[in-house]
Amino acid sequence: MKCDLCGDNDAKYKYYEVDSEGIREMNICNKCAHRKGIDFAPRTQEQKVENIKCKECGLSFKKFKKTNHLGCPECYNNFRSKLDSIFLQTHPGIVHKGKKPVKNTRLLSMKKEIRGLQETLENYVKKEKYEEAVHIRDKIEKYQEELKSIRRDK
Ligand SMILES: [Zn+2]
Ligand SMILES: [Zn+2]
Repeated sequence: MKCDLCGDNDAKYKYYEVDSEGIREMNICNKCAHRKGIDFAPRTQEQKVENIKCKECGLSFKKFKKTNHLGCPECYNNFRSKLDSIFLQTHPGIVHKGKKPVKNTRLLSMKKEIRGLQETLENYVKKEKYEEAVHIRDKIEKYQEELKSIRRDK
């Protein structure tokens, strides 16, 4: 398997990135891991990552990865904080080989909006206002659907 970033070297590490669009799984080479300053973990850790479960609803990271849907407001925090401890997150918008970054103001403003909503969501979760959190989560999902459709039009 080739590296998802440079496409030249063999991928040695699996890397997860959690952002407003859900989870991205990337296979990257040694060189790119260093270049990106990614605190990479060897593939043997993959199994452990898959087994991470949400304390609240029991949703596993494996399932989340598959569906990209959170089981409860706590999931996002659970997975993100755990992943942070294993993999260092890069900035959102990592450039994939063969894909140019989309410069679209609507897209950018929506991303900003989603980020804002996610902050609100995290605040609600912290305050244990789960009903509100679920509402915000639904909103985020709607935005993400819209984002996807904008991308499809490109
Ligand atoms: Zn590479
Ligand atoms: Zn959960």
